[in-house]
Amino acid sequence: MTYVNTISGKIDVNDLGLTLVHEHLIIRSEIIKDQFPHLYDEENLYKKALDAVKSVQKQGVKTICDPTIAGMGRDVKFLERIANETGIQIVTATGYYSFNEIPMHFQTHDIDYLAEAFIRDIEVGIQNTTIKAGFLKCATEDQGVTPDVEKVLRAVARAQKRTGVPIMTHSHPASENGLKQLEIFLEEGVNPKAIMIGHSGDTTDLTYIQKLLDSGAFIGMDRYGQGPLPYPERNETLLKVLKQGNTNRVFLSQDYCCSIDWYPDEMVKEMLPEWSMTFLLDEVIPTLQKEGITDEQIHTIMYDNVQNWFGYK
Ligand SMILES: [Zn+2]
Repeated sequence: MTYVNTISGKIDVNDLGLTLVHEHLIIRSEIIKDQFPHLYDEENLYKKALDAVKSVQKQGVKTICDPTIAGMGRDVKFLERIANETGIQIVTATGYYSFNEIPMHFQTHDIDYLAEAFIRDIEVGIQNTTIKAGFLKCATEDQGVTPDVEKVLRAVARAQKRTGVPIMTHSHPASENGLKQLEIFLEEGVNPKAIMIGHSGDTTDLTYIQKLLDSGAFIGMDRYGQGPLPYPERNETLLKVLKQGNTNRVFLSQDYCCSIDWYPDEMVKEMLPEWSMTFLLDEVIPTLQKEGITDEQIHTIMYDNVQNWFGYK
């Protein structure tokens, strides 16, 4: 595709600029949010997202891809307010986030019914707005590809084929299930250049990573500051991947959540002291440059790869 759907409308793929490809402005449990809304301080949550966005704009970030989808409390009006106030380009997604089961409504309808729901988000608008999704997202965790997860993966693949927007996944490298995701997408006829197997940086297993890369897909080394691997080990693996000539297949991001209601705030701070929206550009990239990664390589990763994923041919 030559354009990308952002919260504020279509943009040319060449206008994405410096992009953080996987960050969340707000994640909420849908049932809690809908049934116990008094538990949230809306203005405080908004301020957290606003401050984080402004801090990366100072670093030169022009676009944020936010893969907060159904199952994570997606709220396009919240994103729209941030985009309007800051001028940041936000690309939101469609799909369904579940590690195991999906709601009965989707269980009792077929794959194409689910795919149509995703296609509507891309072509008509999300949550009865005219705001369109720019990419597709789905998840597989250590439970593996359960029957419902497979249904989502196939629906995502079919929506990709119909609309041309790319796919980002949440995978669990310890069980190597990025390969299973790829297998399903390829079986459904998706072009591997339109696929990003996310969270692939959660492993140091280069054999597994190479198998993903051999398919022609992109990999997300996208959890800097969080997840099961400390930052130096992430970099060590990344450096090997880059030295093997894979600069044009890699994404860097943080999977940062400006707020997430799954855990008390203090617990997040204690578990993930380095995690922030600015960590990648403040710490990680300068360290990679000291290790010999060139400005040109950084440009390829942070600008060109994003364009090539959205604009795959
Ligand atoms: Zn995420």
